[in-house]
Amino acid sequence: MKKMPRILVVEDEPAIAELIAVNLRHNGFAPTVAFDGQGAQREIDAVLPDAILLDWMLPGDSGAVLARRWRSHERTKTIPILMLTARSDETDKVQGLDAGADDYITKPFSTNELLARIRAVLRRRAPEIVNDSVQVGELSLDAATYRVSFRDTELKLGPTEFKLLHYLMKHSERVHTRGTLLDKIWGDHVFIEERTVDVHVKRLRESLGDAAVMVETVRGAGYRITARPAAAPGSSDLSA
Ligand code: CA
Repeated sequence: MKKMPRILVVEDEPAIAELIAVNLRHNGFAPTVAFDGQGAQREIDAVLPDAILLDWMLPGDSGAVLARRWRSHERTKTIPILMLTARSDETDKVQGLDAGADDYITKPFSTNELLARIRAVLRRRAPEIVNDSVQVGELSLDAATYRVSFRDTELKLGPTEFKLLHYLMKHSERVHTRGTLLDKIWGDHVFIEERTVDVHVKRLRESLGDAAVMVETVRGAGYRITARPAAAPGSSDLSA
């Protein structure tokens, strides 16, 4: 169920563009390449990318001009932009950031540095699409491999239960109302009754086995996941 982040690479040197695209593809991203501003605009009009890698020196409009334009348009203004350039002096860096770039990377750069910077801008702008793993007590969830395990035993969860658990684990110990969970898991454009949340929490607990007690119902408030449940995990046989 993992969504591969779409990265638009705007780079006029085909060899560099291809090298970046190959590296992105090998690392769980879905790249598309444009060689100039017009090509990039066509890609953006067709499908909105999750981030843009933007070369500074391009034929036609420069990267700085494009960044400024995309920042000023409603549809594109929140897309993370990472500027690529061969120039490393401070003035250019400042100009790039002034134009609205989120970050700046100087050629030549290593693949690892590029990937780290992309993940960082995505995490800042759109934390939900970056692969990550979370741990609460002995329960762990890896969004990249879509795995949930408790005490090293892998658990099987349905897609909605997975999203629900992921959200609860990322914000553990806090109580979340049914309304909040609906917004975060199902999206506010979907009309579903709050009771639906209860149904999925019930299914989630069934899937969690011994870890089920970690998902607590807080009366009159909502749900939370805690590393220190009132009934310790695995102790249900004692407390029954
Ligand atoms: Ca160039």
